[in-house]
Amino acid sequence: MVLLQISEPGRSPDPHHHRRAVGIDLGTTNSLVATVRSGSPVTLANDRGEHLLPSVVRYLSGGVEVGKTALEHAVDDPLNTLISVKRYMGRGVEDIARLGKQLPYELAAGKPGMVRFRTVSGDVSPVQVSAEILRTLAERAEASLGGSLDGAVITVPAYFDDAQRQATKDAAMLAGIKVLRLLSEPTAAAVAYGLDQGDEGVIAVYDLGGGTFDISVLRFSRGIFEVLATGGDSALGGDDLDRCIAEWIADQAGLSTDLAPALQRNLLRVACRAKEQLSESDEVALSVEDWSGRLDREILYSLVDPLIDKTLRACRRTLRDAGVETADVVNVVLVGGSTRMPRIRQQVAAMFAREPLASIDPDRVVAIGAARQADVLVGNKPGDEMLLLDVIPLSLGLETMGGLMEKIIHRNTTIPVSKAQEFTTFRDGQTAMAIHVLQGERELISNCRSLARFELRGIPPMTAGVAKVRVSFQVDADGLLNVSAREVNSGVETGIQVKPSYGLDDGEISRMLQDSFAHAREDMKLRALKEQQVEADRLIEDLAAALTRDGERLLSEAEYHCLEVALSELRKYRQDCEDYRELQRHIESVANASETFAALRMDDAVSRALSGHRLEEFEGRQ
Ligand code: ADP
Ligand code: MG
Repeated sequence: MVLLQISEPGRSPDPHHHRRAVGIDLGTTNSLVATVRSGSPVTLANDRGEHLLPSVVRYLSGGVEVGKTALEHAVDDPLNTLISVKRYMGRGVEDIARLGKQLPYELAAGKPGMVRFRTVSGDVSPVQVSAEILRTLAERAEASLGGSLDGAVITVPAYFDDAQRQATKDAAMLAGIKVLRLLSEPTAAAVAYGLDQGDEGVIAVYDLGGGTFDISVLRFSRGIFEVLATGGDSALGGDDLDRCIAEWIADQAGLSTDLAPALQRNLLRVACRAKEQLSESDEVALSVEDWSGRLDREILYSLVDPLIDKTLRACRRTLRDAGVETADVVNVVLVGGSTRMPRIRQQVAAMFAREPLASIDPDRVVAIGAARQADVLVGNKPGDEMLLLDVIPLSLGLETMGGLMEKIIHRNTTIPVSKAQEFTTFRDGQTAMAIHVLQGERELISNCRSLARFELRGIPPMTAGVAKVRVSFQVDADGLLNVSAREVNSGVETGIQVKPSYGLDDGEISRMLQDSFAHAREDMKLRALKEQQVEADRLIEDLAAALTRDGERLLSEAEYHCLEVALSELRKYRQDCEDYRELQRHIESVANASETFAALRMDDAVSRALSGHRLEEFEGRQ
């Protein structure tokens, strides 16, 4: 007898065959790659022993530089040296304009859509820049693991929307990397500490990096991490601490406020070094120009405390958004280089009244969690039950008549997920249907975000309400959405992969959520009113058409007049009435008044269909 070896798809049939999988933290300031080696996750260094790769790419006329060498030219070649492009991933030119910030780069002119930067080697997009960073890390990993990679888990901020996630995936594809899954950064940090194997409960992930602060509140239950809320400040990080310290030094050294750029940069460098040294020692010596002095922890704290307070306020706000109390938080995880500062650890511990998890290097913790997840996903740990799921941050749905949002997949649904709903046509003989895909929590589409539009054409003409259009929403494990529509009777079908050309503002998701809570009651009323208005429109249209066609023939003059008056009153109500109950009552009364007319038309239609035919004709057909 021959035995076939059967294995799960995607899993190695040979339990001893180890697959090369990595986790990549594609950061705003720094990026890292990690892998699981002999059961332990480690970050991988380059040949100079450096683990952190500055997320900087410099374009030259004949090639690129990535990382530290590129960073060294940030000052003398600023237009070709691209820094912090993560901020622009999946963003359109309009989004950047909306942020109201002056870009430090030259934009490729005249083209709407994705942002592109003008460099000596041509226009490049944030996706291309990120691909260079990813490629550098993948090559490092391949050199270290001795062969090509089987796949990678790449982390993204929890608040990244569809466009930003898609841009990240595109960058990986461009770099020739197989993406096993995109994983949210706070979830990766929680996994690094093994919280996915631990107790259920609420987890807070405090991430203070170089330029950004993120606070995420997760709930871990039944093997799933659910993002309850995210918050933070996209313009607050270690760089701001450096600026505070630099100002203090300038003040101490009696330097004027109007400093030359070179001196300013030097001051920031000195400030940053002092800040980092003070994480280890109590006092440091400083010297700038011909001034020298000292900075101790006490002064440092007085300088940075206001900024730390700002992060703690954001934490409280985000906990409120998540609907949890500080006491509900069972674990606090520290992420980001700035959390090395003892003062930050102290303050965070005090706020949550518990010691935060900080034993893993806060620079590496996200990459390490991603590596652990990648190891499981390629099948290196058969039998391991760890299956991580993320949830979608905002509901996804469709525009229905009256400008209403019909939610198909609700927010916080775990992904991957697939859901379908049936819709029908509004008009007789309607052969096309516009499908408008939206994201958001509010009832009116004007308060939601438009993701995509497409049309289902070729529906055979049918009476209104007979066509059955089944719209399916599918969100894959990376949070990307596919929408398809199919008319059930005829089988005509069309679909779209939602690849929006622009993204949401960092705080926009949480704002949209808050808005939806704040306006819930008002929205419900507005929704009910819109629904009644659609009802009214339908009745007005039907009745007007019927009166024109059959009114004079079937009705007495008095009856005709009566219905005409009812119709014009309904039109007026439709315009002016703001109470949905009142409008509903009015619609019902007009519908009742026109019932006799409807019955007359029905009888008329039947007798006309029968007239001129002999009964046998009908019998003969059977
Ligand atoms: P990002 O997430 O933005 O890529 P990182 O997590 O790499 O950023 O954090 C970089 C920041 O961490 C910088 O502002 C750096 O000065 C700060 N940092 C690194 N080491 C220390 C330290 N020992 N003490 C205080 N701050 C530090
Ligand atoms: Mg980071």
